[in-house]
Amino acid sequence: MLEIRNQNLNTPAYCHRCGGTAQLKPGPALFIAGTWGAICQACAEKEAPALLFQMEMARYEFEARQGHPPHPGGQKWYSATGR
Ligand SMILES: [Zn+2]
Repeated sequence: MLEIRNQNLNTPAYCHRCGGTAQLKPGPALFIAGTWGAICQACAEKEAPALLFQMEMARYEFEARQGHPPHPGGQKWYSATGR
């Protein structure tokens, strides 16, 4: 089982499912529930696609709060939602 946890690392991490690389960025990320065992995007997609989607939404929020528009059109999105 996976869960979304907030963390501060900005580093590649070992994926605890496939042994590949999980890219950690500060903010919400997916981990094996109850642990800090990182998990890569591909494994998250296979194991918990709904949770991955939730995590991406949380990331979107997080990045907006940091003042970094998540994509080039981000500035427009900001004003449209009154933030
Ligand atoms: Zn993996």
